[in-house]
Amino acid sequence: SELVLITGANRGLGLGFTTYYLKKGMQVLATCREPSKAAGLQDLASIYSNLKIRALDISSEESIQNFVSEASFSKVDLLINNAAICSTESFGDWSQSDFLNSFNVNVIGQALLIQALKPFLPNGGKLIQISSGRGSLSLERNPTDRLDTYDISKAALNMLTKRLSAKLRPNGISVISLSPGWVQTDMGGKEAPASVSEVIPVLAEVIAKINLKESGKFLDENGEEIPW
Ligand code: NDP
Repeated sequence: SELVLITGANRGLGLGFTTYYLKKGMQVLATCREPSKAAGLQDLASIYSNLKIRALDISSEESIQNFVSEASFSKVDLLINNAAICSTESFGDWSQSDFLNSFNVNVIGQALLIQALKPFLPNGGKLIQISSGRGSLSLERNPTDRLDTYDISKAALNMLTKRLSAKLRPNGISVISLSPGWVQTDMGGKEAPASVSEVIPVLAEVIAKINLKESGKFLDENGEEIPW
């Protein structure tokens, strides 16, 4: 059966995607930085035999290489590049380390993971980059907020989507950026209008419809295109 690989699967949207695809009967490879501390995933593993939990810190090149070399899969049909960090340094307090951390987790990890997975990506495979409307240059959403490193990293992630979509099209692999909307998670906060369990089936419906025609697009949770 089909295999889905999810990063940052221990909480928030990643745990939501994991639960959803387990219930659908897919083979789910849920990755997180510290599997022994991932209580939500351990609970799911006691119920679902189609779940495997593996360590993967996407900010570490070594962790990506170890993960892929120890992988027991023959193909990855669907990758959900979900893990991200959102720091809040305002202009005046910007630091090199904050930019580098954001880029390592939000862009470079996604790029290196996909590169390492290339031999395992089948024709018809789908790569989903969880982005944000905040990464849109043309929407220029709330530009005076303190989320600059995050917004800039998501804009870069969107360019990665465009580049990979062109490079992988000849192999029949689709790549999109997908904004989940504002969702109640540790990152989204309690004021967000939607819960993880409400939004995940909606996002999964968009993902199910992805094909090469959609590849290279930036979509919102309703499958509508977001301007770059
Ligand atoms: P959370 O903060 O709830 O979860 C983030 C996840 O990323 C955690 O599992 C975390 O693991 C993981 N992570 C962080 N750093 C690393 C790393 N170096 N290696 C592996 N995993 C890591 O965020 P959400 O669930 O809200 O966000 C999921 C995605 O959705 C992100 O890409 C985010 O940018 C995007 N998004 C979310 C919105 C929202 O309103 N919630 C709005 C727009 C976009 P750990 O527990 O180890 O820290």
